[in-house]
Order: sequence, then structure tokens, then C-alpha cells
Amino acid sequence: MGKFSAEKRAKQYARLIEAYGDVCAHCGRAHPDTIDHVIPTAAGGGSSLANLQLLCWNCNQRKANAPDPYRVGEILPTLKAEVDYVKWALKHGILQARPLKMVVRKDTPA
Ligand SMILES: [Zn+2]
Repeated sequence: MGKFSAEKRAKQYARLIEAYGDVCAHCGRAHPDTIDHVIPTAAGGGSSLANLQLLCWNCNQRKANAPDPYRVGEILPTLKAEVDYVKWALKHGILQARPLKMVVRKDTPA
């Protein structure tokens, strides 16, 4: 449960239903029973309403502790948050670094 009381959690749940509807954000199933961090707190995600969503148990299990690829772009308001997220995602293999390709012109002296 962490630092949130059951009452606080119930209020948060009600606010999420009000904001997004009483449906799973991924599959649309009614009455989802888990609150999910779109970007996990470990990756710098906050606990504001914008970073929370309702997921059904199955979708939450499938997503595991990873950022939600569908919604990441919406809720990274600052460049710093984006950089933190990219660092975290690279470290956890969610994003893969692409090697830079050096383009060498043929007429460039060696
Ligand atoms: Zn679902």
C-alpha cells in the first residue's frame, strides 16, 4: 500500500474515473481495478493525475513496470523529464540506442 491510505487511494480512483471514464485505458474493459503509473516512479514519473491511468488486472500485468509506450509522449512536459526517461529506458532495454552512422564522402581526404 505504501504511503497512501485506502481513503486516499479511493479518492484518486474516483478522480481517475471522472477524468478518463470507468474503463481500462488499454483494452476498454469496464471497471478496471488497478491504478497504473504511465511512467513508473522509478523512471521519474510523478503521481499527478496526468501520469496515472486505470488498467484492468490483465493489462497491468502485461505492461509490467514499464512506461506506457502509447502515452509517454503526452506526459513528458519538460526536456529534463524526457532525457531522464530516455536514459532509464535505454538502461532497461525498452529503447535501443542506434549506432551513429558515419558518412564519409569519397572525395574527403583521409
Ligand atoms: Zn485492460
